[in-house]
Amino acid sequence: MLSPPFDYSLLMPGQIRFGWGARRHVGSLAATLGRRVFLLSGSRALTERGVIAELVDELDRAGLPVITAMAAAGEPVVGEVDRLTQSWRDAGAGPGDCLLAVGGGSALDLGKAVAALLPQPARLSVRDYLEGVGTGAQLTADPLPLIAMPTTSGTGSEATKNAVISSYEPPFKKSLRSDRMVPRIALVDPELTVSVSPTITAHTGMDAITQCLESYITRKATPIPQALALQGLKLALPALGPVVQDGTLRPEREALAHAALLSGIALANSGLGLAHGVAAALGIQAKVPHGLACAVMLVPALHSNLAVAESPLAELARELLPRTPGSDHGAASALIEHLTALCAELGIPTRLRELGVARDQLPALVPASHGNSLSGNPRAVSDDELRDLLESLW
Ligand code: NAD
Repeated sequence: MLSPPFDYSLLMPGQIRFGWGARRHVGSLAATLGRRVFLLSGSRALTERGVIAELVDELDRAGLPVITAMAAAGEPVVGEVDRLTQSWRDAGAGPGDCLLAVGGGSALDLGKAVAALLPQPARLSVRDYLEGVGTGAQLTADPLPLIAMPTTSGTGSEATKNAVISSYEPPFKKSLRSDRMVPRIALVDPELTVSVSPTITAHTGMDAITQCLESYITRKATPIPQALALQGLKLALPALGPVVQDGTLRPEREALAHAALLSGIALANSGLGLAHGVAAALGIQAKVPHGLACAVMLVPALHSNLAVAESPLAELARELLPRTPGSDHGAASALIEHLTALCAELGIPTRLRELGVARDQLPALVPASHGNSLSGNPRAVSDDELRDLLESLW
């Protein structure tokens, strides 16, 4: 039996409103946070399906003026964060206003970063605040209050304290992170995820599963996040295959959205591991979408951690699989086999070259994999070992 340290604190959104159609509560919820709403939308599909117009109507009915912006395609970069911050500053965004970010993890992270930067007295670039590449600048003022509405079921960013921001020149993918950045309200309406394509459903779903697994076995694991991660896995593992086949399945869409939310709470409080460390590097060096990168790295990362994480993986296996071998090693291995089969069913590639990674990019992936995620891995991974692992996966 695993004994996590019974000495911890727990961060969560101030309020979670979850439910099919829960978007209709946006007006009453936003009215508790501000007099005016700066709305960031992250996907054209949402505009085309009338979701953004519906949200604006709800806010209107609550008497809240709305200023809208649309995120650029792709994962957010430094220049986009700085430009939107400046544009909303010019529009007078400040105390008394709130933000609403609607979209996948990319839009939520852009919204979280802008909400954090807007009230800072020092008008710095977001880059100054980023871990590892910044100037060490710290947020001295609380972010503007934010409602985060996820429309993919993957990142759990609606419940986390960081925003992942990229740059291609120079290349990095790093977080702006502060306990103050957990969204005030996570408004999760799984109905919004029905329009997500099968491929993005598979990739984002694997991100949530990877977050639950890595936060469960991380060296920073604590009891409540572990309970949530287990629940997330119980929901997501049986739901993902069917919902990739038929994206309209309501119970499965609900299960995945809930699993993603739980994975976010878990990772915000426990951290992650090797799969997410390498995923960040693959994202920036080879532009591999985040969920796909996590999906490809999950099984190799678990194999790499098996010797030190056998006991918690066996514990998960006994909860998640109908039949497991008696020994910890056998049970943990059965769980890895189950995940391998799920990845195969979803058509997840197993080779880095299938992701468009060139062999001469492998050396650059090694330093780029180090950061907050890798620091939580159950065991230290040396550069030589990382190089060998990437080479073997290429
Ligand atoms: P994404 O936000 O980039 O979205 C993927 C694609 O799905 C986009 O083309 C988007 O337009 C589309 N999309 C979104 N919602 C849709 C909908 N309802 N219908 C149809 N299409 C829709 O992908 P993601 O995986 O959700 O987010 C990835 C980003 O989140 C990465 O930058 C990753 O690093 C970051 N991330 C952040 C955290 C955190 O805690 N802050 C955690 C994990 C990952």
